[in-house]
Amino acid sequence: MALHRRRLMLSLSALAMCSATRAAWAQADDAPLPHVALTFDDGPHPEQTPRLLDILDREQVPATFYVIGSCAERSPDVVRQAFLAGHDIGNHSWSHPILTRLSSEAVEVEISRTDDILMAINGERPNTIRAPYGATNDEVRAVAWPRSMMLWDVDTNDWRSRNTESVAREAVSRRGGVVLMHDIYPTTIAAVPSIIREYKARGFRFVTMSSYVEWQATDAIDLA
Ligand code: ZN
Repeated sequence: MALHRRRLMLSLSALAMCSATRAAWAQADDAPLPHVALTFDDGPHPEQTPRLLDILDREQVPATFYVIGSCAERSPDVVRQAFLAGHDIGNHSWSHPILTRLSSEAVEVEISRTDDILMAINGERPNTIRAPYGATNDEVRAVAWPRSMMLWDVDTNDWRSRNTESVAREAVSRRGGVVLMHDIYPTTIAAVPSIIREYKARGFRFVTMSSYVEWQATDAIDLA
């Protein structure tokens, strides 16, 4: 537990140094179970992502954005708006390839180029990475190490259904955890208010993926 407290203090002081004006959400450390992490991949989208940010702001809910580096380069102001609002910005590769089909060198370029653009926009490197399609293997994980490659617990299949009712239903179909969505579809954005309402009604706490990793690390340390 002492180790965890040190880690948390370090991460909080780093946050304060890097971006004094950035909003801060409750840490997972404070979170009673159950908790939920809303994650949005494949943006930023110049129109849909700002709409989502308005909803999250209104509801005072943190989320995690796994952005594609080449999209971030085209819409840096949207990424910065999300970052300054206190949301987590994760690395989702530069061009969304199937990383397991690339050489280690090519995987390294996909990840580091995205790190670089996000560092240029936010002044901070992403804490976590999510592989496109969740496709990962030992080689990909070795390139990402020591950062975590994040998957999900709940797949809304929003890209397939493009149906607001279906997304809203799927997102709350399990007991929280990490929910996968995409902030590039209007049908997904339209489902978010109802998803938040439902999780709030069930007493869930909303966390970012960075704090989720921290929380899991605490759990592992406590068990050891
Ligand atoms: Zn993706």
